[in-house]
Amino acid sequence: MSDLDPSTLKLDTLCIHAGQEADPLTGAVMTPIVLSSTFAQDGPGEHKGYDYSRAGNPTRNALEACFAALEGGRHGIAFGSGCAATMALILTLKAGDHVLVGDDVYGGTFRIFDKVMKQFGIDATFLDMSDPAHVRAALRPQTRMIWMETPSNPMLKIFDIAAIADIARKAQLPLVVDNTFATPVLQQPLSLGATAVVHSTTKYLNGHSDVVGGAIMTSDDALAERLHFVQKAAGAVPSPFDCYLVLRGVKTLAVRMERHVASARKVAERLTLHPQVARVHYPGLPSHPGHALASKQMSGPGGMLSFELRGGLPAATAFLKALRIFACAESLGGVESLAEHPAIMTHASIPAEARAQLGIGDGLLRLSLGIESSDDLWADLERGFAEAKRI
Ligand SMILES: *Cc1c(COP(=O)(O)O)cnc(C)c1O
Repeated sequence: MSDLDPSTLKLDTLCIHAGQEADPLTGAVMTPIVLSSTFAQDGPGEHKGYDYSRAGNPTRNALEACFAALEGGRHGIAFGSGCAATMALILTLKAGDHVLVGDDVYGGTFRIFDKVMKQFGIDATFLDMSDPAHVRAALRPQTRMIWMETPSNPMLKIFDIAAIADIARKAQLPLVVDNTFATPVLQQPLSLGATAVVHSTTKYLNGHSDVVGGAIMTSDDALAERLHFVQKAAGAVPSPFDCYLVLRGVKTLAVRMERHVASARKVAERLTLHPQVARVHYPGLPSHPGHALASKQMSGPGGMLSFELRGGLPAATAFLKALRIFACAESLGGVESLAEHPAIMTHASIPAEARAQLGIGDGLLRLSLGIESSDDLWADLERGFAEAKRI
């Protein structure tokens, strides 16, 4: 495939082939897992492009080329976790710098900005980016990066990537978009003007809940060079075996996303009609405040939703305990369906008042729709509602 320009191929094809060639030595169709930490050199400095696996590894390079193609970027850089990818981008900043961050970001991202980076003199302002004018107004002379996640987690807010990219471009700042929830199948931030995309590949890209990994994709050559340096110097690289698993998982990304979206749509619609549900947050519903924008910048509203169950924490706990197909677990984006309680589980690192302000209450539940039969999934949710009603 190396003689074909990836930009001429559809995403479904890239998921399976990008960055991968039949092994020149054996013809093996699947990318070999090269576990070697070091590579023999013909003489000092005379090598075939690999000297030490932290700096470069053939299995990882195949994955990185695949990542780049999926987001339509020139560079893909793989990390040992989504948080490590986030840290690598932050390590391109310095003390005294300021970052604007969406208010409803992944709890671990919030924790990095709020707890880890403060001690190194990097300041962050968290704000609702629903109105791009607020982003412009929050810029400071020290602002060096804008960071957003859309759809956001767990409230599924939608922020306007193109409008915020425009603000970033005018202020000569990089815009980073965490595209973990949407995946490149549903949303391509680089084509909307973002400088870099970050992923927790732990989620949809791998899709089978058996790897923790992260990635950054960008077409900015200077930024990519700095990120490659951070990857090698700070060393948060994924193992070759994990790279192989993600290469394998990502092959089915396009077909998986179709099913995730179809199930989420069905379940969201049914939840809106349920008497025990106070509110449903899903960008595919016309009642969602970001519906029109989501329809414009995404090709589907995603496989994640959250809803407010009536009855508070006791009802939410009974609901989760009654489920038999949905696992009560953190994380998302796998073939199996997951249900969780953001206030206690994924978003516990966000202070209680901030959670309340965002609407993350005791009755809020988040679902990651897997690819099981949506009829079986709905029957499982009915089990939850029946138990919650008895409380
Ligand atoms: C999980 C997640 C992360 C962090 O990724 P890890 O692989 O868990 O380190 C970042 N952003 C989003 C949106 C996530 O869901």
